[in-house]
Amino acid sequence: MELPLGAAQKTPGERLPFEVEGEFAAFEFSGDALAFDGPVKVRGFMTGIGEDITVEGQIEALLLGSCARCLQTAKIALRIPFAEVFTRQPSEEHPDAFLFEGAKADIDEMVLANLFMNLPMQILCKGDCKGLCPVCGKDRNREPCDCDQMRADSPFAALRNLFKDEQ
Ligand SMILES: [Zn+2]
Ligand SMILES: [Zn+2]
Repeated sequence: MELPLGAAQKTPGERLPFEVEGEFAAFEFSGDALAFDGPVKVRGFMTGIGEDITVEGQIEALLLGSCARCLQTAKIALRIPFAEVFTRQPSEEHPDAFLFEGAKADIDEMVLANLFMNLPMQILCKGDCKGLCPVCGKDRNREPCDCDQMRADSPFAALRNLFKDEQ
């Protein structure tokens, strides 16, 4: 994904809006296979300051993965705010700046770095996904099952009996 920086270079100090989008390949993140549903969009403002361009805005992406609880496809909408510096000269002033040449920057690395930093710890199809029944394996989001979750041999059954006695 390329971000044209020419306008910001020509009018330093001016906050210029931009919007770009690009396709990213599927990837693996801590054991989860993830893919993007459609292009990743990046929009915001860029400002030329000396040799540097500050770029701030938000990254929008739809991620497809497999729900950690029910294994169905989970679609996750990400909106990640970011603020980065692009420079032609690496300097001590901006050790985290991304480098660019000419009048445009390849922002793939910046986009992926911000995405990875903000991925959810666990991929879920919805916050209250009931998951698969550990006894019969049914998807409890689709149909309730008759399994007693507190089976006599479960370690929780002993706890439950303990609380019963106290009531
Ligand atoms: Zn789920
Ligand atoms: Zn069940």
